Amino acid sequence: MTASETPRKPRGRLFFANPGPTNIPDSVLLATAHHTVDFADPAFGEVYWACMEGLKRILKTRQEVFLYTGSGHAAWEACLANLLSPGDTILVLESGHFSQSWGRMATDLGIEVQTVPADWRRGVDMAAVQAALAADTGHVIKAVGVVHNETSTGMMIPIPEVRAALDATGHPALLLADTISSLGSLDFRMDEWGVDAAVGGSQKGLMLPTGLSFTGVSHKALKAHESSTLPKHYFNWSAMMKRPLKSFLGTVPTSFFFGLQESLRLMEQEEGLENVFARHTRLARAVRAAVQHWSGNNGPQLFCTTPSRYSDSVTAVLMPDGIDGDVFRRVAMQRFNLSLGGGLGPLAGKVFRIGHLGDLNEPMILGTLATVELAMKVAGVPHTPGGVDAAIAALA
Ligand code: PLP
Repeated sequence: MTASETPRKPRGRLFFANPGPTNIPDSVLLATAHHTVDFADPAFGEVYWACMEGLKRILKTRQEVFLYTGSGHAAWEACLANLLSPGDTILVLESGHFSQSWGRMATDLGIEVQTVPADWRRGVDMAAVQAALAADTGHVIKAVGVVHNETSTGMMIPIPEVRAALDATGHPALLLADTISSLGSLDFRMDEWGVDAAVGGSQKGLMLPTGLSFTGVSHKALKAHESSTLPKHYFNWSAMMKRPLKSFLGTVPTSFFFGLQESLRLMEQEEGLENVFARHTRLARAVRAAVQHWSGNNGPQLFCTTPSRYSDSVTAVLMPDGIDGDVFRRVAMQRFNLSLGGGLGPLAGKVFRIGHLGDLNEPMILGTLATVELAMKVAGVPHTPGGVDAAIAALA
C-alpha cells in the first residue's frame, strides 16, 4: 500500500463530542496519574474522605454513599441487588435505551418489571405514573426506577414530579434515580427530592475516566436493604459498611480519588456548582438553536419534542428519513476527527447525539456545530445552512 492509498488520519486533536465518556480536563488527567499509594495509608484516607464528602455535596445528600470499581452498570446492579428480593416488583418509567437496559437487568436478577410505557420523543406522562401507583393498592411495587437524564434521547425526566406521584398516592415504594448523565451537569437534589438510591458514574459530568461508580443511599433504603435477599457479594452494602473506608470489598482504585479531588475542586471552588449548571444550560441552548435551524429543508430535528424536558447535557438529533446517521458520523470522524455519539437500541442509525457535558466551553461547542454542519454538507444530509449563526446568536 502506498502512502496515498493509506487511509488518512486527520491531524489535530480529536474533537470529542460524545455524551460520555467526556473530555477530561488536563489537571484531572495529571492528578489521576498519581503514583501508587497504600489505600490503608492515613494520608490516602484524607483524600478519600474529602472525596466522599464532595460526592455527597454534589448528590446533595447527607445520607450514605457506596462506591464500586466498575462503570454505571455496576452501580445499577448494586442498587437493585441491595434493595430487592427475588420476585419483588419494580416499576420502571420508560424513557429510552437506558430505562430499558436497567429494566432488562432487573429481569435478569429475578425481579418482576412493570413498565409505565412512554413515547421516547415526548416522554413519560406523570398522570400515568400516578395511575400505576394508585392501582397498586396492595403495594406490590417495591421500587420505582427512573432515569433522570435519558442519554439515548436527550430528555430530562423531572424527578420531583415522580416523587409527587408517590406522595399523592401515599405509595411507600423506594425511589431509584439514575443520575449517570445528569450528576455534575444538571441540578440533582437527592435528599430534597426524596430519592432513596441515586446511581452515578465517573465518566460524564464528573469529568473522570470510566470505571468508578457509586450509589447515594437513603436511610429508608438502608432499612430496606436489611431484608433484601437477592444474591450479592462484591456489591453488598452490609459487608462494605464493615470495611475501614465503608466501601470497596477489594483493592481501592486510588488513582480515581486523586482525580476526583481535582474535579471537585474545579466544580466547586474554581467554577462553582451553580455556574457549572448555568454553563450547561447556555451551551445546550446553543446546540438546540443550531439543530432547530438545520431542521428547515427537511433537515435533522431535535429528537425530544417536549421543550420543558430538553436535556442540558446531551442532544439527540433525528436524521431525515432515509439518511443513515452512522454513515454521517463516519464522515465526521474520518474526515474531520469529530467524534459524535450514535443512536442506541432502536435509534441506531436514526439519530446521532451531541454530548455537551463536562469540560466544555463556547469555542468547543461552536467547533462541534460548525463541523457537524460541514460534515452534513459533505455527506449530502439535507439541512438549512446557518445553524452555527443561530448558535452564536443564542450564546451572544
Ligand atoms: N444510564 C445512563 C443514563 C447512561 O447514560 C449510561 C451510559 O451511558 C448508563 C446508564 C450505563 O453506564 P455505563 O456505561 O457507565 O455502565
